Amino acid sequence: MLQKSVLDKARRWIRPVIKKIQAYHVADASGLIKLDAMENPYQLSADLKQQLQTRLSDAELNRYPDPAASVLREKLRQVMLVPQDKAIVLGNGSDELIQMLAMAVADHDSGKDVCLMSFDPGFVMYKMIADFVGIRYVGVSLSERFSLDMEKTRAAIAQHQPAIIFIAYPNNPSANCYDEKDIEEIISIAPGMVVLDEAYHPFAQSSFMSRLTDFDNLLVMRTVSKMGLAGLRLGLLCGHPEIIKEIDKIRLPYNINVLTQVAAEFVLDNADELAQQAKLIRDEREVLLQKMQAMPGLQVFPSQANFILFRVLEKNANDVFASIKQSGVLIKNMKADAGLLQNCLRVTVGTPEENGAFLAALDSAMKNEK
Ligand code: PMP
Repeated sequence: MLQKSVLDKARRWIRPVIKKIQAYHVADASGLIKLDAMENPYQLSADLKQQLQTRLSDAELNRYPDPAASVLREKLRQVMLVPQDKAIVLGNGSDELIQMLAMAVADHDSGKDVCLMSFDPGFVMYKMIADFVGIRYVGVSLSERFSLDMEKTRAAIAQHQPAIIFIAYPNNPSANCYDEKDIEEIISIAPGMVVLDEAYHPFAQSSFMSRLTDFDNLLVMRTVSKMGLAGLRLGLLCGHPEIIKEIDKIRLPYNINVLTQVAAEFVLDNADELAQQAKLIRDEREVLLQKMQAMPGLQVFPSQANFILFRVLEKNANDVFASIKQSGVLIKNMKADAGLLQNCLRVTVGTPEENGAFLAALDSAMKNEK
């Protein structure tokens, strides 16, 4: 009894908005072919792995990491073609950068109403992080085929005056890149920062990185996760040095650990190998798209990313998802009964074998009686 009241005393301080949040759910993939999280299915070659092992065993784990990760930052600048006069801040994954940006604008001291804007359906962490730091999230609905609805967007920007607008390019979960002209207009009319989240850049090959020079309020965010290094947790935010300087103050001093710095530096020196893997994935995406488009009962959306969104037309997507899982393949159920994602599922492009297993599982799910 006494125990409970002490617990209640502690718990009552947790903000109601946090208590209401459903924790970010990561599905258990044990024993399954994992096509749910947009990972690169390929590991490094045996040769690179061996060289990496030596580097890692020499890493000074007894020391704190370089707090600025200067060597790594400069390698990222070269590989990702960040303009020389722009600055870079690193995050423990791009998720952490989204959090730093949100913390930088959450103005609880003056009680100002601060809005973080993005587009729905979109990447769920934008809203979750807005909730974590206590700012208002506004998600502007995309139009039917997941393009930007510019009429709605202009009105929403005028009404809500967002401190930051996040644009995932390509978008997750719809996998498309928005029209470049629409994005330029958003950057021009935005009253604050605009972040182009280019997490899927290796598969889109279309980027706003070089446009940093044209717009001082533009920030470009990248990650090494989808390139094949999701386990390292490393993202970067690039933009005007005066903005990056402020964001960098929020960064915890040693957020990029020693092993990540050593491993990422090494792999970036051998970036060709990741580029070849991305090419394999892009080629395989086209094969998968074609095969899925040929299957009856599906609406398959175009993709410029390493995943494909599709709608199940005459069956329940929950049943199709469960049947595919039963066959040993884990994909992502968008769990939407209505709206733009109604009855939609999302599959990550894997190796040819994994994709074959998925197609067979999908085919059998579509033929199920249920
Ligand atoms: N942005 C988008 C659009 C994403 O889909 C994801 C991950 N699914 C991220 C950012 C987060 O990437 P990271 O692994 O760098 O935190």
